[in-house]
Amino acid sequence: MKKSMVIGNWKMYKTVSETVAFIKELAPLVENSNAEVCLAVPFTSITAAVEAAKDTNIVIGAQNMNDASEGAFTGEIAAIMLKEIGAEFVLLGHSERRTLFHETDPYINRKVIKALEDDLTPVLCIGETAAEREENKTEEVLQRQLEECLSGVGEEPASKLVIAYEPVWAIGTGKTATPQMAEEAHAFIRKCLTKQFGKKIAQGLSILYGGSVKPDNMAALMQEKNIDGALVGGASLQVKNFSAIIQCC
Ligand code: PEP
Repeated sequence: MKKSMVIGNWKMYKTVSETVAFIKELAPLVENSNAEVCLAVPFTSITAAVEAAKDTNIVIGAQNMNDASEGAFTGEIAAIMLKEIGAEFVLLGHSERRTLFHETDPYINRKVIKALEDDLTPVLCIGETAAEREENKTEEVLQRQLEECLSGVGEEPASKLVIAYEPVWAIGTGKTATPQMAEEAHAFIRKCLTKQFGKKIAQGLSILYGGSVKPDNMAALMQEKNIDGALVGGASLQVKNFSAIIQCC
């Protein structure tokens, strides 16, 4: 059976010392968890987080990377650099990167391919805006994002992907999709992945829900057939909330 997965996305929060303190407190609370417990920490915290998470079941990853191997790209970080310091996965296509940093689907596609080449698990984030949902364009948007962001990805590398459905209107707003709304989107995503990569691979991929997940809405989301876990922003910043979310798996 596929293991459920909970990823905390810390965004631009927590210094190195705060990171270490958090992981030391979290580790004993989640050591018997049924879920894979993952933290996407700031670049500056990755080395310390990997060290603090050694001998625990917490997996450390990054929140972004560049699509090139190296080059004159001031301020950017390559997949191979992340891999070398122990990051195991990378968030790609988060809506904050799309809206604030103008990342496009073709650019995200190049990052997905690079991450797979350099053996980092890409966690591809997709989702519709409020306006797109109101115009009944949710499925059209999800299908386009999946086709464009995963273009040229072969079946074998595709089996290493994680997909996060994050309706933009639910991120950091306190508005969660109802379990039924999320399940409809997840089932549609699984259908698109089946078309792209075949049934066996699509069934094996984890599709996480993200958007104002809290301890009190996680259990209901996890009842749904196609929801395999969560990508958690705000509620991943406190050990108490994050561990309570993990306990729901
Ligand atoms: C996110 O940043 O991916 C996210 C889902 O944030 P929040 O849980 O705060 O809505």
